[in-house]
Amino acid sequence: MALIVQKYGGSSVADTDSIKRVAKRIVETKNAGNDVAVVVSAMGDTTDDLIDQAMSIDSNPPAREMDMLMTAGERISMSLLAMAIHAEGSHAYSFTGSQAGFMTDARFGAAHIKAVKPDRVRRALGKGSVAIVAGFQGINEGGDATTLGRGGSDTSAVALAVALGADVCEIYTDVDGVFTADPRIVPTARRIESIGYEEMLEMSSCGSKVLALRCVEYAQRFNMPLHVRSSFSHRRGTVIVPNQVDPRSLPNLE
Ligand code: ADP
Ligand code: ASP
Ligand code: MG
Repeated sequence: MALIVQKYGGSSVADTDSIKRVAKRIVETKNAGNDVAVVVSAMGDTTDDLIDQAMSIDSNPPAREMDMLMTAGERISMSLLAMAIHAEGSHAYSFTGSQAGFMTDARFGAAHIKAVKPDRVRRALGKGSVAIVAGFQGINEGGDATTLGRGGSDTSAVALAVALGADVCEIYTDVDGVFTADPRIVPTARRIESIGYEEMLEMSSCGSKVLALRCVEYAQRFNMPLHVRSSFSHRRGTVIVPNQVDPRSLPNLE
């Protein structure tokens, strides 16, 4: 039995039908005999919409309130996803970043994770439930909600996988993996089967948003295997593993 962290990006949970589709996939992974913890992003363009709403009130809103607002997006998707898992006949608990033990520094809008203490996530898994964690958010020492910067749910997923000692962190998105260039812009781009952390770091730092830079840095630091794949197919995606690890040894490859 493996412990798998799955992250679903906003493009994979854009509407309630997508949430139901993702719930089926999570339950499939669970029923195959794995423990599954999920990190979820806000639905579709929710985060952009929240920012637009704030800007229409004040072009320079207080940073604390901005973070409080933006954490709302992931609360919606995490609770709907837990409901969809119930509807599939399985059980899930959703947790905010703070409930899941994501402690950060105080930099609103660009907070760094200082520690992850996922006791409640572990207890949920121990009871045989799926744990769903809101990505992109944490809590600072003063008890205020913080966000990690745009695309930060990727980093939340890796940090949770490291804290739980997961076997793999799967990043589900709307393309079949990491390509030689953005496949939406360059039609001849090819999918990469397997790539090293260093090379992936380069791609992320050049702006390839398929994986957030800090997520790759975090994975490299803790040797966490990543599998970037599509939530719309069951095809194998791109694996990023430490040198000494055989990519074929990862769980849930097909
Ligand atoms: P999510 O909602 O899952 O977080 P993102 O929009 O953040 O998804 O990232 C996925 C997008 O990244 C793809 O739709 C693709 O257009 C873009 N992208 C940019 N560069 C690459 C690349 N080299 N390989 C794959 N996707 C890329
Ligand atoms: N919802 C946040 C964003 O749009 C975090 C994420 O999707 O990773 O940036
Ligand atoms: Mg993203």
